[in-house]
Amino acid sequence: MKISRMHDQPGPVFSFEFFPPKTQKSADQLMATVAELKEMIDPDFVSVTYGAGGTTRERTLQCVARIQRELKITSMAHLTCVGHDRAELRRIGGLLAEDGIENILVLRGDPPKGEEQFVQAQGGFAHASDLAGFLREEFQFDLGGACYPEAHPESKTVADDMEWTAKKVTNGVTFLTTQLFFENRTYWSFVERARKAGIKVPIVPGIMPITNVGQIERFTKMCGAGLPPELADRLDRCREDPATVMAIGIEHAVLQCRELLERGAPGIHFYTLNKSPATCAIMAALRQI
Ligand code: FAD
Repeated sequence: MKISRMHDQPGPVFSFEFFPPKTQKSADQLMATVAELKEMIDPDFVSVTYGAGGTTRERTLQCVARIQRELKITSMAHLTCVGHDRAELRRIGGLLAEDGIENILVLRGDPPKGEEQFVQAQGGFAHASDLAGFLREEFQFDLGGACYPEAHPESKTVADDMEWTAKKVTNGVTFLTTQLFFENRTYWSFVERARKAGIKVPIVPGIMPITNVGQIERFTKMCGAGLPPELADRLDRCREDPATVMAIGIEHAVLQCRELLERGAPGIHFYTLNKSPATCAIMAALRQI
């Protein structure tokens, strides 16, 4: 099913993001995790990220196809501009379409490990909006895009950031998913600015349940998302106690999601990091609202 059709129906759309497995064994584990999630949560759709190169890219394509075919859950493939020319992107689009995948999250992508900057592939694209325009011309996919409540780290100004976000929509993106954030006012002020800039598509908040302090510190540093000082202090005091960290992470995410949904956010996209317990606990709490 096309994701924009899900958003046309009443009620929030819940989605869950996974990264591709490294081995056949972890591919089977991932299928088991997603099956468990289906049993407990009944996701509207799941998505699988796209690596910067190598075999994991093929695994993304295999995973979305398997999840949709074997588990009967709508799946969205992430696709980036990194290292691909138009012919390769056309080939990948063709493979996904053949497998019955109807949704793609179009991204520029982050540079491969060890490289500082994104480099446009010869014959490829420099920006997610260009990839969106290309896929819209060539295929019938429903296209999603990324957006950044705290602005993308490479954007020179907040206004620039919004201009390029709007261009994704002009070029065919029908829904946006935000980078992770921990303070809802960041999301609401972004949505307000986006609406003023003429962006009308659903803007789905991306939530990453905190389960490990070192990991969340690395992620927030990398993507420029702020950890509120009070939350950072609480986490710091129990960084060596995984059960307490997870409890704080779940409590914070539940509060965030409740407020977002009560104020009319169109759904929640969970960055699961391939682990289901925290996400399932959050969803269980939300369903008891
Ligand atoms: P773009 O929209 O191209 O923006 C990148 C930068 O260029 C921004 O600073 C923007 O303001 C600027 N820009 C955009 N268009 C123009 C233009 N026309 N002229 C000048 N400047 C411009 N990464 C992966 O590698 N794989 C994944 O699977 C993946 N999944 C993600 C899922 C979500 C929900 C999110 C939020 C991010 C994901 N990322 C993923 C990370 C993403 O690839 C990085 O944040 C990347 O640095 C930017 O990608 P983008 O699609 O937002 O790029």
